[in-house]
Amino acid sequence: MFSIALHGGAGVIEPNMLTPEKETAYKNALNEALQIGKSILANGGDSLEAVTKTVMSLEDCPLFNAGKGAVFNSLGKHEMDASLMRGDNLEAGAVGAIKGVKNPILLCKNILEQSEHVYLSGSGALEFAKQVNAELKEDDYFFDQFRYDQFLQAQKAGTVQMDHAKNPLNEKKFGTVGAVALDAYGNLAAATSTGGMTNKKYGRVGDTPIIGSGTYANNNTCAISATGHGEYFIRAVVAHDISCLMEYKGLSLKEACDEVVKNKLVKLEGEGGVIAIDAQGNIELCFNSSGMYRASANSAGVELVAIYS
Ligand code: ASP
Repeated sequence: MFSIALHGGAGVIEPNMLTPEKETAYKNALNEALQIGKSILANGGDSLEAVTKTVMSLEDCPLFNAGKGAVFNSLGKHEMDASLMRGDNLEAGAVGAIKGVKNPILLCKNILEQSEHVYLSGSGALEFAKQVNAELKEDDYFFDQFRYDQFLQAQKAGTVQMDHAKNPLNEKKFGTVGAVALDAYGNLAAATSTGGMTNKKYGRVGDTPIIGSGTYANNNTCAISATGHGEYFIRAVVAHDISCLMEYKGLSLKEACDEVVKNKLVKLEGEGGVIAIDAQGNIELCFNSSGMYRASANSAGVELVAIYS
């Protein structure tokens, strides 16, 4: 038995914001990533490998705000955050404010497997990336005219902007990416990767690399990957909170996700959502915004690719 779910960001995503061609492009990219993860799981691969490869596929796609499609910070540069966690032994790897690394999620796997630390940031993380021969890219690899225009507009307005805020420029591209999976051995894993928020202060780190906020996995409960306005997700400790509601209060996956995303976060005015899988393979795709790029599949043959609520 296996289950997998992924997201490409949540936010103000409405049918009138995407042309049919763009909608198809997003759905194809989501489906391509889903099939990568699904085939790993169907062939007996483990959940850590499945979520890593799924997220790498989304990082390599310029449609999403992670890896190649990462947004610009206040200096017109790209600083990325990512994290990865396994549910069997609670090992985790995370990276914050990393520059020039093609696949931050793969670097998280290196940190998880080869470093004595959980979380590396900035220049130290880059040095570690070089030691493990992570693939590096020059600035122009991450350059995208649409994202640059988005950045100039945010700078002019003096705002820090979610990649999927309501904004005429945002009709084209949205979203942080993530994946969660349960493998045939009963192990859960979660992965999340992002460029953060447009025009964010350099050095700003969001919820994505913070274990317990943007990412969490525990075989006793669930695997979670979040997307949304990071400052609120940090303060609400979203991913771990969902796990705790299950572990300590006996809530189901759906009840726990609804409580945190549709009640606690809404009260804080924190927009976004989560993808979640529990130890029985149940899948929840839960968000308080108008849409979330998402997809899921399981060994029973259920498959979904969706955008709007
Ligand atoms: N959570 C991310 C951050 O605040 C943004 C996103 O999900 O799009 O950095």
